[in-house]
Amino acid sequence: MHTQSIAELAQGLRKGDYSSKELTQHYLQRIEQLDGNYNSFISVTAEQALQQAAQADLRLAKGDTPMLCGIPIAHKDIFCTQGTRTSCGSKMLDNFIPPYDATVIKHFQQAGSVSLGKTNMDEFAMGSSNESSFYGLVKNPWKMECVPGGSSGGPAAAVAAQLAPAATGTDTGGSIRQPAALCGLTGLKPTYGRVSRYGMIAFASSLDQGGPMGRSAQDAALLLNVMAGFDPQDSTCIDKPVPDYSLTLNDSIEGLRIGLPKEYFGEGLDSDIQKAVEQAIKVYETLGASIKEISLPHTELAIPAYYVIAPAEASANLSRFDGVRYGYRCDNPQDLNDLYSRSRAEGFGDEVKRRILIGAYALSAGYYDAYYKKAQCIRRLIKNDFISAFEQVDVIMGPTTPSPAFKLGEKSNDPVTMYLEDIYTISVNLAGLPGLSIPAGLTEGKPIGLQLIGNYFEEAKLLNIAHRYQQESDWHQQTPPAAHKQNSEV
Ligand code: GLN
Repeated sequence: MHTQSIAELAQGLRKGDYSSKELTQHYLQRIEQLDGNYNSFISVTAEQALQQAAQADLRLAKGDTPMLCGIPIAHKDIFCTQGTRTSCGSKMLDNFIPPYDATVIKHFQQAGSVSLGKTNMDEFAMGSSNESSFYGLVKNPWKMECVPGGSSGGPAAAVAAQLAPAATGTDTGGSIRQPAALCGLTGLKPTYGRVSRYGMIAFASSLDQGGPMGRSAQDAALLLNVMAGFDPQDSTCIDKPVPDYSLTLNDSIEGLRIGLPKEYFGEGLDSDIQKAVEQAIKVYETLGASIKEISLPHTELAIPAYYVIAPAEASANLSRFDGVRYGYRCDNPQDLNDLYSRSRAEGFGDEVKRRILIGAYALSAGYYDAYYKKAQCIRRLIKNDFISAFEQVDVIMGPTTPSPAFKLGEKSNDPVTMYLEDIYTISVNLAGLPGLSIPAGLTEGKPIGLQLIGNYFEEAKLLNIAHRYQQESDWHQQTPPAAHKQNSEV
């Protein structure tokens, strides 16, 4: 069962090959037996999952059910789940049980999908390797000595190891696409405003966006159908009809104009990744696409601008964790100041503290103009680069990451090197555009990601372009050798 796509699982459920309860039990068993290797889950909600599965079976028996009814999904532990701990990978929220569900979670419940549990992540979604979680690091199922990418490393590892058919993630600067690339998955960061952020614990509110992580563009489309849509509880969520993303997957891409930004193929790019991307582009040419070199001249400013804007917003967002209202509280505070400072000092990890310090500094009266305001100006220039690019081409393609999965511990003591991992993904968030990563090769047994960047609200087009490639290639069907061995056991 765990080798099947969501569309196949949905069919299996409807044909009665298995019930949602059986399917859910199968995944729960895999998680129990195998996740000790990866640490991809923080909380497994077995009892609740089986209850939801039983309800889904009742709905399925009546017929006329949404596509995801009865399908198990894993959720990144950043989406609030009523009655189930939502930790955001932090000691700060180790005891936090939300009194409400995030809108995305509600949507999945309405669709009848089953939640297997909450997956691991970098603390407060800050990171590119999933090594900064309070609950321990996550391992890449393709190469156990390597990182799965971050911050959605838990969802990525869980799906790659076939412990869940698909998962939700969030992407502030690359956290869906980068782990999708490193774990051989299809991951989509939608246009800012396409998916509600209500109940998604905020890191950098003007950049955060939830999206699907799955094994194919088709699976991602089915998930996005459920995730997207207007939410009056999120003032930045757009009131715009949601198309059925699965209906246009097979559209012809004859005449598609692909832009290759010259800045994405320069120094620092792994040569095998470059070759794989070039190969993928050739496939698109055979499908009738034309290629044009374009320029996104402000690309090199994306990381410096992001690492001012994101920490600035994080410093404001994380000020709510003060030891008073919710989350961790230190023992025996001497006075109010001691309560604030010790709760935060003990509750947050190093990377989170680093970001809060940088952010508070960049926003302070004396430095606001020099750093925060400058960064916002650069952000506009980056957006303008994309706007002019999309006057010439329909989609932009390039690598998702400069290198394949790196070794655990290799970059964790060098924040700047770690930040450079997001060189190709971050500008997409700064511009608010949709971006998709699909598997396009392997190097030394490690997956390679191809990134597709679309114009605003063109998720359907991106998924269509990705799906057409996936019909011509089988990279997305490859699974980690470790999972093969274990497949026969469970
Ligand atoms: N790696 C980036 C950071 O550390 C992006 C993280 C994300 O997208 N949540 O901020």
